[in-house]
Amino acid sequence: MAGGRFIFLGPPGAGKGTQAVRLAKDLAIPHISTGEILRSAVRDGTELGTAAKGYMDRGELVPDEVVAGVVADRLTSDDCEAGYLLDGFPRTLAQARALEQRTGGNVGQVVYFELSEDEVVERLTGRRTCPSCGRNFHVKYLKPQTEGKCDTCGAALIQRSDDTEATVLERLRVYREQTGDLVGYYEERNLLTTVSAAGAPNDVYATLKTAIAKE
Ligand SMILES: [Zn+2]
Repeated sequence: MAGGRFIFLGPPGAGKGTQAVRLAKDLAIPHISTGEILRSAVRDGTELGTAAKGYMDRGELVPDEVVAGVVADRLTSDDCEAGYLLDGFPRTLAQARALEQRTGGNVGQVVYFELSEDEVVERLTGRRTCPSCGRNFHVKYLKPQTEGKCDTCGAALIQRSDDTEATVLERLRVYREQTGDLVGYYEERNLLTTVSAAGAPNDVYATLKTAIAKE
């Protein structure tokens, strides 16, 4: 199996970025993350990139229409002919509708990585990061060889402010508010495939491959 169009949805901490990188490589399709293409559109100075930069410079959210335009531009690149994997887009119903318009309705298969709130909190609050080389660990699932020290460079590991319980709960609230409706939207259109994101990344990947092969 190669090629295909995919949209990945899921709460923070579900590990969808990791799964996205792997599947995109396997299927030889580009992995398109919104943050990345927004930054490159800004860097290349495209019309929409310049518009996006204006909002970002003012510290404002880039409007759905602008984000959708930047994504749609990216999807017309030659490397997207065999398909693409969208990660982090759409984030809202308005973005989903804009994408539908721009792709002539053929958005592809939507994979929803499901993870309970308790699991999200456990995963994210247990994360430890090396401030020196950026490597990530987990107090339970990915322990460093020496407690509290980076395996690569030996620096003392820290918990990022993003990963404290209060922040994680707030991120989840924002996620649910923005993205909650999307799951129902795609379900109604029979485009949704739900994959449990609980378990080790290798197991989740195996589940993912089976699930998308069935469609
Ligand atoms: Zn390190």
